Amino acid sequence: MQGFPDNRAVSALFRVFGGAGSRQLGEASRRAEAGALHRAEWLFFSTAVPLMILVAVGEGLVKGLGPIWGGLLTLPAAFVAWTIFPFVVGGATAVWQWRRWLIVLTVWAVWRRNAGGIIGAFAWGWLGVFAVNLIAMLMLAWRATMLWKGKAGIAWRMVIAIVLHGLALVIGLRFGWGWALLTGASLSSLWCWGVLSPTSQWFGPMRRRLDDDRVLITIDDGPDPRDTPAMLDLLDERGLKAIFFVIGEKVRAYPELAREIIKRGHELGNHTLTHPQATFWCASPWRTRREISGCNQAIEEITGVKPKWFRAPVGHRNFFTHPITAGLGLEIMAWTRRGYDAVSTDTPKILQQLLEGNQPGDIFLIHEGTPIALDVLKGVLDGIKAQGWDKEPAKF
Ligand SMILES: [Zn+2]
Repeated sequence: MQGFPDNRAVSALFRVFGGAGSRQLGEASRRAEAGALHRAEWLFFSTAVPLMILVAVGEGLVKGLGPIWGGLLTLPAAFVAWTIFPFVVGGATAVWQWRRWLIVLTVWAVWRRNAGGIIGAFAWGWLGVFAVNLIAMLMLAWRATMLWKGKAGIAWRMVIAIVLHGLALVIGLRFGWGWALLTGASLSSLWCWGVLSPTSQWFGPMRRRLDDDRVLITIDDGPDPRDTPAMLDLLDERGLKAIFFVIGEKVRAYPELAREIIKRGHELGNHTLTHPQATFWCASPWRTRREISGCNQAIEEITGVKPKWFRAPVGHRNFFTHPITAGLGLEIMAWTRRGYDAVSTDTPKILQQLLEGNQPGDIFLIHEGTPIALDVLKGVLDGIKAQGWDKEPAKF
């Protein structure tokens, strides 16, 4: 599970977008060697802060001494201020000093925002910097809430849902119902992204790739009386292990197959009791719990093994999935490669989508119980052999 990246960023913005593992800023987010600050952030602050001091000092001097003397003294006075103020501003570390500058200059910008002309422009520019940091702070707070004790509980999430709806209501009463609608629509689209995007971590963490340089095959929607035995033989031939994300009802229908998967050294993952692929994204907390714990029960009763992994039907978790999986000791697993083999029968195209541009750490999603299941598995096994990634079975 990823915690907060220890990037020693000054501002919330960089903490969100410049963190280790984040690619948004590419090279710019590499740490500056001295002080372990982000190079881009260090450049920004070391340019912007003196510039703002120059503007603030210059304004005061020009007002007090007139344009000629004020203008002449601005540069040296700003330099002296820039040298002395850090002691006044304080801060135990370089990071905290920059952070205090951010606050000091924001106070100045609020005070001078109506000054007009160049001073007003600088003040508004700095308020813009503060605004994007504020948004980033809210994002960090959201993330901390969703990771709280590894799981913000169901009751807590209900409170959050009610507060957000209340927010739209308050905005409607205060500013008119058009704004309420806009707020509601924005919140809904954020919610849809968190629920429908299979790799989104809006509502909690999930395993999205392996940490090492191997690859992992995951096989969903079984066990299947036709495909499972043949797939197990294929995997044995190559000496590879997989995770079978099985459906609870099918485990009860074909208990021998579930036991055989474990016997041959593979893992069983939880893929819900009935695979409600059209409605899991909007299921109530109670139904979500029934689906997940029902599948766990089926697997445990029949094989004696407690699953470690959960995968939502078509990857659609809902707002209440994380607290339930965490309570059952399950970690959610997504995937990096899929070929839509459950909806298409065009095997060459499916294999191309699965194998083109593979990287170490990839998690393959394939299905059983389809007319082409064996061809797809064989193609993937051939593909990773050709890429040299079948040397040892993946460990999870
Ligand atoms: Zn499925």
